[in-house]
Amino acid sequence: MARDMHFACRCGALAGTLRDMEPSAFTHIRCHCRDCRAAYTHLGHADPDAVGILQTSQDRVSIDRGGENLRVFRHSPRGALRWYATCCDTPLFYTPLKARLVHVGVNADVLSDDDDPGRVQAEGYVPDGKGGTRHKGAARMVGRMVPRMLSGNLSGSWRDTPFFADDGAPAVPPHVLTREQRAAALMGVKA
Ligand SMILES: [Zn+2]
Ligand SMILES: [Zn+2]
Repeated sequence: MARDMHFACRCGALAGTLRDMEPSAFTHIRCHCRDCRAAYTHLGHADPDAVGILQTSQDRVSIDRGGENLRVFRHSPRGALRWYATCCDTPLFYTPLKARLVHVGVNADVLSDDDDPGRVQAEGYVPDGKGGTRHKGAARMVGRMVPRMLSGNLSGSWRDTPFFADDGAPAVPPHVLTREQRAAALMGVKA
C-alpha cells in the first residue's frame, strides 16, 4: 500500500515527506560502516554503532519547511554527500555526488514515530568478531536498488529533488572535511 512517510530534524525546523513509499520503493538497511557513523560524530552526536537507513530514489524526498537549513559535507574529496540540518546538526541523508545515480539513503531515526519502515532487509559492514566485516542480504539490497536507479535515470525523475539543481550540481556547495575534522570525527567512532 502506497503511503507517505514524514521526517524532521531533531528541533523540528526542517521537515519533509517521503512520497509514495510502497514496499517496493525502498529498502530498509542498517549500515555499520565508519563513514555513516562518523557523520553523526562529526555533527557532535554519540557513535550510533549502526545507522538505520531507508534506501530510495531522491525524487520521493520533498522538504516541506526549513529547507534553508539544509547543508552538506563530505568526509573526503571522493566521499558521498552527507546532508544534515544546520539548525540542530541532525544527520538526515546521504546521496552519491552524481544526481543521475538516483539514490538516497534517509536516516531512519528522523522518521516520525508513526512511520514504521518495517524489518531490516540488509546489513552492511557488520563486524564479524574477527576484525573484519561482512554484508548480510547485499544481493537483495543491490537487486532492489539497481532497478530504481535505472528507471529514475531514464525517466529524468532524478531532477525532481531538493538535493540537486537541474544541471546535476549539489543544491548547496558541499564542505569537504579537513584532515583534522575527519580525524576528529573518526576518533568518536568505536573500532
Ligand atoms: Zn533542526
Ligand atoms: Zn555506511
